[in-house]
Amino acid sequence: MIVDIDRLPREGLKISKNFEFIHDEIVEEDAVFLLPLHADLTVRKMGEEVYVKGKIKTLLSFVCSRCLIPFEFPVDSHFDLVYLPEELEVSREELDSDDLNISFYYSRKIDLKDVVLEQLNLTFPVKPLCSQACQGICPVCGKNINNGDCSCVTKDSDSRLEKLKIFLKDKR
Ligand SMILES: [Zn+2]
Ligand SMILES: [Zn+2]
Repeated sequence: MIVDIDRLPREGLKISKNFEFIHDEIVEEDAVFLLPLHADLTVRKMGEEVYVKGKIKTLLSFVCSRCLIPFEFPVDSHFDLVYLPEELEVSREELDSDDLNISFYYSRKIDLKDVVLEQLNLTFPVKPLCSQACQGICPVCGKNINNGDCSCVTKDSDSRLEKLKIFLKDKR
């Protein structure tokens, strides 16, 4: 959905619609949309600055990076962005940290689908976890340790205890 900067109505453009993304457009490879992504956007031009304000809402299924079990990941995110013409473009490093919501538009157009996609990707955690306390799976037997310890864990801690006993005995 491409917006022509020079054709924006004076009162701004209001958009309320669902966006669809193909699988490889989202950064989280294993994510699956459980609900369509709905976006409410307002695009307003003031001089050469274009303000894109909006919210996105959806529900995805992620795969926990520790226990590999899918879990629901709701997205309900608001954003407030400023787009400047490409003539003013500077590198990211030159922008102050409080200018992080500044982007640039090219050829006097803004693709709202790209805006929504970028904002969606920003909501994703670096490492998806079903819960911060997720214990993950046993590296030996692959059992989900969240459902209780497996025998390998016990054996492993036993052998460590054995080593400690030997260590302590040698000290004496
Ligand atoms: Zn997990
Ligand atoms: Zn195990």
